[in-house]
Amino acid sequence: MPQSGGLTGSRLLLRRLRDVMAGGGSAQDRLNKVVTIIAADMVAEVCSAYVRRAGDVLELFATEGLKREAVHKTRLRIGEGLVGHIAAHPRPLALSDAQSHPNFAYRPETGEEVYQSLMGVPILHGGRVVGVLVVQNRTRRHYAEEEAEALETVAMVLAELVASGELVSPDEMRPIEGIGLLPLRLEGVALHKGLATGQAVLHEPRILLSQTVAEDPRQELERFRAAVAGMHNALDDMLAASDIADGGEHRDILESYRMFAADRGWLGRIAEAINSGLTAEAAVLKVKNDTRARMGQIVDPYLRERLLDLDDLANRLIQHLAGDVISQSADLLFNDVVLFARTMGPAELLDYDRDRLRGLVLEEGSPTAHVAIVARALDIPVLGRVPNALSYVESGDGVIVDADHEQLFIRPAEDIQQIYSESMQVRAQRQAAFVATRGLPADSRDGVRISLNINAGLLIDMLHLAESGADGVGLYRTEIHFMARHAFPDVAAQTDLYRKTLEQAGDRPVVFRTLDIGGDKLLPYWRGTGGENPAMGWRAIRIALDRPAMLRQQLRAMITAAAGRSLNIMFPMIADVPEFDAARRLFEIELDRARRLGAVLPADIKVGIMFEIPALAWQLPLLLPRVDFVSIGSNDLRQFLFASDRGNPQMSDRYDVLSPPMLGLLAELVRACGAAGVPLSLCGEMAGQPLEAMALIGLGFRSLSMSPSSIGPIKTMIRSLEADPLRRYLDRLLPQPVPSLRRQLRAYAQDHGVAI
Ligand code: PEP
Ligand code: MG
Repeated sequence: MPQSGGLTGSRLLLRRLRDVMAGGGSAQDRLNKVVTIIAADMVAEVCSAYVRRAGDVLELFATEGLKREAVHKTRLRIGEGLVGHIAAHPRPLALSDAQSHPNFAYRPETGEEVYQSLMGVPILHGGRVVGVLVVQNRTRRHYAEEEAEALETVAMVLAELVASGELVSPDEMRPIEGIGLLPLRLEGVALHKGLATGQAVLHEPRILLSQTVAEDPRQELERFRAAVAGMHNALDDMLAASDIADGGEHRDILESYRMFAADRGWLGRIAEAINSGLTAEAAVLKVKNDTRARMGQIVDPYLRERLLDLDDLANRLIQHLAGDVISQSADLLFNDVVLFARTMGPAELLDYDRDRLRGLVLEEGSPTAHVAIVARALDIPVLGRVPNALSYVESGDGVIVDADHEQLFIRPAEDIQQIYSESMQVRAQRQAAFVATRGLPADSRDGVRISLNINAGLLIDMLHLAESGADGVGLYRTEIHFMARHAFPDVAAQTDLYRKTLEQAGDRPVVFRTLDIGGDKLLPYWRGTGGENPAMGWRAIRIALDRPAMLRQQLRAMITAAAGRSLNIMFPMIADVPEFDAARRLFEIELDRARRLGAVLPADIKVGIMFEIPALAWQLPLLLPRVDFVSIGSNDLRQFLFASDRGNPQMSDRYDVLSPPMLGLLAELVRACGAAGVPLSLCGEMAGQPLEAMALIGLGFRSLSMSPSSIGPIKTMIRSLEADPLRRYLDRLLPQPVPSLRRQLRAYAQDHGVAI
């Protein structure tokens, strides 16, 4: 490609395109000229521009080389033919023998059968495909990578023309349901449960670049450097000011994010695009588009998260270039803000006024995304994976986020609004009532004291301990902290975290569960888990026993952190007694080591297990004398008892925890632990549901651990319950051949005035 090779060539091409764009004539005339210039510049016989129209169709809008009569006639669906393939994936495609590609679709009206090779790139705007730009050659030409780069740069310029609305009305690009401003109900995945109402604020403003081609690249580079410096300073300020950045995981997240902002590869690619003739803004957008295209091909969750961080930084950089440093003027317009974003970085969420932020809706997102972790810490309901959410909503639209039922209402009708506002009022009243119970004991009406504890996983969760009035932390999921980081924390970092956790807990006990990774809990930097059936695969204690150094480091950190205090350690996913013995031996080795080094030891040590695997039920006589306590993980226990995947929505209602087999097993554990004098607790989701918790107390459980928001409702239930009559009722109820006892238990609660 002689003319366009090298910087000067591409700059010249961009200049020429800019002149065409700035010149007179209709948008169609300009597009016709553009394809002619590109074909000549790229030494291609054909250059065609396809534009996306309503109904997800790509229409040939201009061509140099194909038959003219095909213009506005040839149409391909997204995914159809090579052009549709490029739009569907969306990334560049270069083929020296295009006709042998499985997606090749011959359109006789175009006369393209004589062209052997093809190179095409998506025309992207705001992260969406708005068209496809293609060049074709008669011979079997091998297109170099730089040529695809050059064509992508040109596509940036065309994106602005298409997005200007002069070729196709912008309404056409909206999904059908978005037109007419009708109320809409969309579904997603709850990344953090809860209910929120408010006005929509679109996180990512639709950026319309006024200029894509630079007058003077040197000046653009200067602007770019100044903006990068400004962005770095702003991020540093944010790090310093962040009031939740008290050495916790959020600081880790922000720090690694700050590190990405200095990523040389990323900044280098933007500088390169500026050198090729784009304005600084257009260059940032181009690299952002490339990043998004790459993201589509990446399945590794860690890498995807990193690319999302870069996406987030690109938005930030553009705002600095525009001199409009995240003013959030939009969210200041409303008192109750529901934020909409395709995706979002953790720092961006913290930019918004937390007192007004009520909910978050993401087109993408996973429970392990950093933004979800931060939103959880701030207790904002998050609905993720809502396809095309941004295209259905306008800033200021009234919205209801019902993450409890994984749905979202946009511009809801009066009756829906009414229902939700009532349900929010009831919630607020209930919440106030729960707060009032904070200082009261969790005693049943007949004087049975229940120990209520919280499940935690991040330092910030520890704030809920005092707020909720719980007795302690019944389950500290240590893997959450590992999941929120970019690298495996060393012993010092772990010691620091466990020490802070214990300090925040004060006199209240904390049960640390050793790493439960594998299954659905993947560490971004840890490979080697998975397998066909990960929940039953190499996970938790199985990994720990095969990689003892990892477990020993964790135990060492816990022993050091608990110097002079109580230390409670719990091993997850124990399947047999020898596994417990092996894990305990590793603990003893670490304890001996600390002793030999003359360290201050924990004042009191308890080592227990999670009961999650049914096989343990037949090993109780050997197991119970060895353990200091047992905590039932009902989430996994239910999954393994019924061979029913806990993550599969089709299975979620199929087998009930309130069924005779599950309750029968739990009753047997209460009996056996009671007889052996081993403290028993339950820390799965079951403990946090009032009806389920009622049944557990009826079975004889005296200790439960749950998410902090459940403490109030459960305590209220307990204070309205008489435990002894319920025990007698359950004795009669259990031996029944029914799939669930839920209905009977609910009726019992209603008849006896139990607040469920
Ligand atoms: C459980 O399995 O019930 C449990 C508490 O552990 P996790 O949910 O972390 O697997
Ligand atoms: Mg479990």
